[in-house]
Parts: sequence; structure tokens; C-alpha cells
Amino acid sequence: MQRSCERAVTLGLPSIAFTDHADFAPWPWPSGIVPAGWRATVTDGLMTVPPFPVEEYLANVERCRGMFPGLRILSGVELSEPHWHPTSTRDLLNRGFDRVLGSVHSLPADDGGHPRALGDDIFDVRPAAEVIRAYLAEVTNMIRTCDQFAVLAHIDYPVRRWPVGAEPFDPDAFEEEYREALRALADSGRALEINTQVPLAPRVVQWWRDVGGGAVTFGSDAHDPETVANGFADAAAMAEASGFRPGTDPFGMWPRA
Ligand SMILES: [Zn+2]
Repeated sequence: MQRSCERAVTLGLPSIAFTDHADFAPWPWPSGIVPAGWRATVTDGLMTVPPFPVEEYLANVERCRGMFPGLRILSGVELSEPHWHPTSTRDLLNRGFDRVLGSVHSLPADDGGHPRALGDDIFDVRPAAEVIRAYLAEVTNMIRTCDQFAVLAHIDYPVRRWPVGAEPFDPDAFEEEYREALRALADSGRALEINTQVPLAPRVVQWWRDVGGGAVTFGSDAHDPETVANGFADAAAMAEASGFRPGTDPFGMWPRA
């Protein structure tokens, strides 16, 4: 966290939010391999993430605020499928966070079993178009059934694992599904994150504006200090071209122009 703040200051960022993950249920994880830097264990094909270490986390945020007084440091959390875990979500959010993201990282199981993580192998087991449609349907479901988060994270999450060698991902093929999710988000007055792990298709941000989306945020999803704000220059230019601008609050979200 300290090194990420150093990086943010070096880059001249006005603000940084640490939206650590809160994962409330074990995920099927057939590969058995835990990605580097994750606090998780895999037993019998199920990945378990330890509870969000709230005390340790908030103490670190406070320590960094003391060390970097010129940087606005937001506390935050990225809730994984909060609509499936309303009680755990409420208990965690009672502690108070500045920035709360809602995320879908897995698909509900067809057979009533454990949800299926959108891991490296997802496109091996289901047709690509079906994965995207199921993902967007679950995102829409989360928006409609959970009001505990303020920002929808990475609406293009499965695109990160789009199969190599397939036709390039084309958001136009899923316009109706994107618009449905975006409309639900706009109607609830929440914001859309432009996540730069993969460049978000400008078309999606234009649809967001079309349906009345009020604001965007920027997330590099950096899991290490070196990648803080990766791709932000391009993302900011794209947001401006799509009808969003910095607001009067230099630390705030970007409202529609
Ligand atoms: Zn995520």
C-alpha cells in the first residue's frame, strides 16, 4: 500500500483508492493454481479466501494517510457477488468504506452447485458468446438486487480471458445485454468503472452515456505498485471523447459533460 502511494505521488495522481477484494464464498478452481499475490488456498478444487482483514486494512490506510498528506487516500472494497451474500456484505460495510465496488467474478451453476469462477478455463467449458451473455445477465441481476455498492467494476471482466485464436471480441454482438446492464446501473444512480486491465471498448462508454449514465471512475485493478494507473491516459482520453469530464471536485468521479 505504501509503495502504491509512492507510485501515485510520482505519477501526480490526486487520489488513490484501495479496493481490496472481499470474497465471501469458496470458488470452484479446477486448475488448483493460486495466482501470485493472492491470499487464498485451494483444497479439493475449491478456492477459499480468508475474511477481509478489516482492522489490518484500515490501520494501513491510516498509516499511509499520515505518510502522504498530499494524496487523497480512499478506503474501499471490491465486493464479489454481494447479492449472493447480503448478510456478510452488510456486516463488512458497517465498518465504513469510502469507495465500494460491486463485481461479478463467477457464474451461477446450472445445477445448483457452487458458482463457476470466470477463471482461465471458462472459455474451454462454455461457448464464448454464452459466457459473455451469462456474465452480463448476472451483472444486471446484481445491480437490480443489491444496493450496497456505488460503482460497477469491470463490466468487461470475462474479456480478459477471451480465447486466443478466436475472432476478436466484438461488443456490438452483445449491445442489447450491455445496454440492459448499463440502464439498470444508470437508473439506480451509480457509476461505471473504466477498468484498464484490458482497454474498455469506447462503444460501451458511449452506450453508458446514451442510457443516462451519470459518472465514470477509473480503475487500473493494480495488484502491485508498478501497475498503479496503468492505461489511465488512454482511458481518460476515451472518457472525454465519450462525453465525460473531470468535475469540480479534483478527487471525485468524472460526471457526464
Ligand atoms: Zn474484480
